[in-house]
Amino acid sequence: MGKVTGFMEYERLEEGYKPVPERLKHYKEFVIGLDDQQAKVQAARCMDCGTPFCNSGCPVNNIIPDFNDLVYQGDWKNAITVLHSTNNFPEFTGRICPAPCEAACTLNVNDDAVGIKSIEHAIIDRAWAEGWVQPQPPRHKTGKKVAVVGSGPAGMAAAQQLARAGHDVTLFEKNDRVGGLLRYGIPDFKMEKIHIDRRVAQMEAEGVVFRTGVMVGTLPKDSKVTNWARETITPEQLHQAFDAVLLTGGSEQSRDLPVPGRELEGVHFAMEFLPQQNKVNAGDKLKGQLRADGKHVIVIGGGDTGSDCVGTSTRHGAVSVTQFEVMPQPPEHENKPLVWPYWPLKLRTSSSHDESAEKGILQREFAISTKAFKGEKGKVTGLTTVHVEMKDGKLVEIPGTEKEYKADLVLLAMGFVNPVASILDAFGVDKDGRGNAKASTEFTGGYATNVPKVFAAGDMRRGQSLVVWAIREGRQAARSVDEFLMGFSDLPR
Ligand SMILES: Cc1cc2nc3c(=O)[nH]c(=O)nc-3n(C[C@H](O)[C@H](O)[C@H](O)COP(=O)(O)OP(=O)(O)OC[C@H]3O[C@@H](n4cnc5c(N)ncnc54)[C@H](O)[C@@H]3O)c2cc1C
Ligand code: SF4
Repeated sequence: MGKVTGFMEYERLEEGYKPVPERLKHYKEFVIGLDDQQAKVQAARCMDCGTPFCNSGCPVNNIIPDFNDLVYQGDWKNAITVLHSTNNFPEFTGRICPAPCEAACTLNVNDDAVGIKSIEHAIIDRAWAEGWVQPQPPRHKTGKKVAVVGSGPAGMAAAQQLARAGHDVTLFEKNDRVGGLLRYGIPDFKMEKIHIDRRVAQMEAEGVVFRTGVMVGTLPKDSKVTNWARETITPEQLHQAFDAVLLTGGSEQSRDLPVPGRELEGVHFAMEFLPQQNKVNAGDKLKGQLRADGKHVIVIGGGDTGSDCVGTSTRHGAVSVTQFEVMPQPPEHENKPLVWPYWPLKLRTSSSHDESAEKGILQREFAISTKAFKGEKGKVTGLTTVHVEMKDGKLVEIPGTEKEYKADLVLLAMGFVNPVASILDAFGVDKDGRGNAKASTEFTGGYATNVPKVFAAGDMRRGQSLVVWAIREGRQAARSVDEFLMGFSDLPR
């Protein structure tokens, strides 16, 4: 344990943010991480609990008390070794994880949780700066070939683990760049893409072959899912060429809002809007980018995706940004004795909300449902809403609360229903009740689908989730694939 009395002596220190007017001028990250001394003080707050709830609250089971202690001792090199032992990409989670570990931290019962995420962020950024993150090519090759389909965090984590176990891994991606939603969903201001590119270089040096612009199977003709494929490969071709196939294609089917006027120009899925800005940031020239400049924007959906639409619209120069959430407004503070150590329901205000509010253009509406989009000459001009309330477990409309909103751009950010069915169907993979790839997470034989030698992991198996869960599933699936190929596995689970 670091400092025995640290938790009584030191307050929690949040990471800093660059000022709003400055950060709104660009799409770069604006979080100012802790310096070495600040991280050491924050790590000193850890009590090295006998039962470290943080460790089980973290989906990759990061060994948090140990790296806190190592940071307190100034042993940063061993801190990154401990962190990497459970998490392939701490620079992703150290930036964009909502940190369920902190909700579970014992200090959170009656004080502020240890700043675990900011310590993780400091460890991995220092490790890259010091040159401690190096390729780890395998000592022996197995001669087995594995195809991983989909290069999001689940596919990347699995590919890295399998390559380190000595297999020849090829990672197929339909889009033109690697990273899944890290690349073409999450805005650069939350996570710059250099972090993905550095890992791709590391993985290439470890033997992973990346094949971007390659679609495995086909999408329906009218699909709005991102697709920059130049080439198509069939599941049969993969079956013939590889000893195992792991499907990590994400949960890409956006939830739609089929109310009158849905066909109007200016009503789009968030995932038509956000990827375009990431492409422009990467230097691509787009014809007719979907932009929010000078527009009244309505974002339908109160989660992460909606918040990212708020941040991007504000940077574009929207006149107003209104965000709708169908559920009632949650309380500002959670009832800790009731919910700890679980993830609490409470009002979440993101840095994007803060920016938009500081510019005076943000409005957040809760318990609101959209009844129709209205338009002129085929273009959206507004929408009609009604307030709703929960009655007998169902949301019902409150009579007399109908309202009209002006809108030039409507972004649908209501989550994702399931993976694209045609891809799972092409492989003959059974689906669960929610349309996800059906596979268990058993210790032995987990992540295997009903189709021999085909496995599934990440959002494609569990449904829309978080980066940290995708990394966990990618790691665990890699172990299952390794066990299937070799009869045993030394990969951690
Ligand atoms: C806008 C947005 C913001 C988010 N913000 C956060 C956040 O702040 N923190 C957080 O933890 N999580 C966040 N999430 C959720 C997180 O990004 C996902 O849970 C995570 O990326 C899932 O990882 P995955 O590897 O399973 O799939 P994905 O990241 O979806 O990657 C799947 C990849 O597979 C490719 N693919 C699919 N089918 C095929 C095929 N047939 N052939 C070839 N390639 C294929 C896709 O093109 C895609 O690149 C956010 C999601 C969105 C949409
Ligand atoms: S629960 Fe909090 S205080 Fe306890 S070991 Fe984990 S980080 Fe440290």
